[in-house]
Amino acid sequence: MGHYVGSLANRIELQNKYQQYVMVADLQALTDNIDNPQKVHDNVVQVGLDYLACGIDPNKTTFFIQSLIPQIAELTILYLNLVTVSRLKRNPTVKNEIQQKGYKEDLTAGFLMYPIHQVADITVVKANLVPVGDDQLPMIEQAHEIVRNFNRIYQTNALVEPQALISKTSRLVGTDGKAKMSKSMGNAIYLSDSADAVAKKVMSMYTDPLHVKVSDPGRVEGNAVFTYLDVFDPNKEEVQSLKDHYSKGGLGDVVLKRRLIDILNNFLEPIRIKRSQLAKDPAYVMDVLKSGSEVVRQVAEKTMSDVRHAVKLNY
Ligand code: AMP
Repeated sequence: MGHYVGSLANRIELQNKYQQYVMVADLQALTDNIDNPQKVHDNVVQVGLDYLACGIDPNKTTFFIQSLIPQIAELTILYLNLVTVSRLKRNPTVKNEIQQKGYKEDLTAGFLMYPIHQVADITVVKANLVPVGDDQLPMIEQAHEIVRNFNRIYQTNALVEPQALISKTSRLVGTDGKAKMSKSMGNAIYLSDSADAVAKKVMSMYTDPLHVKVSDPGRVEGNAVFTYLDVFDPNKEEVQSLKDHYSKGGLGDVVLKRRLIDILNNFLEPIRIKRSQLAKDPAYVMDVLKSGSEVVRQVAEKTMSDVRHAVKLNY
């Protein structure tokens, strides 16, 4: 759901106005699943199912799989020369992830340089707009630096500087009320979760630890249930009066959580139905991803022809 509010919701709109590309990042997924290629392989279809079920339409959007575009790897190699190791280590999102994953001397070069790989993902199709959550802003900044350096050093305009499109909810907190919702933190609600799974997750959601009795005044700020109501509850006036009531005391967490469960399940139900229909035909999902990849390979080859020309690798 974090991915939905941070990026997918914008993509559903953008596909009506722009030529849109959406990538499934299997190579990047391998950087922290080195020993588990089967998981990465199986999840390609799962991610495709999520996107299609949310309403990203293959007739309007070109889907592709990262590893099917070898030009991305070629661009990555060229970009590696334009970024220092110390610059990569200063990237706040990467720094945070290194800490979360507990990497020390075992930090791989592949993981450290994944932001460079992302710059190649973006620039290979000469994208100008990238809809992302705010954790991705350092990656877009990295893209600006690489594109500017490349175009300046090789005296070309082969590469396009992308802009970030940040959504209204640029960071949805996890159900634990901490940091961003993310699969690896175990604090995520999945688009594929059953109604029961959603209910269980919401019932254990972080609220205000000092709000012990119903009559106690409760804190709204930092209370994950209110954060989610702010994002998903269409009735903003009612949410405001619930906040007032909660702050004064006399409103229990369970009432709020039941409301949130209904709202989330209403939101997820059509996605769930569409997802389970599509899941009966994984070959169709693969076909969407592979046929889009063929289109992107041609676009990527055009970009590479400009790039190879600029770096004099055009033999
Ligand atoms: P990820 O699934 O972490 O690779 O992120 C995919 C996209 O969704 C990126 O644009 C992220 O910024 C965005 N995203 C992921 N989790 C969240 C979140 N909890 N809140 C807002 N945006 C998010």
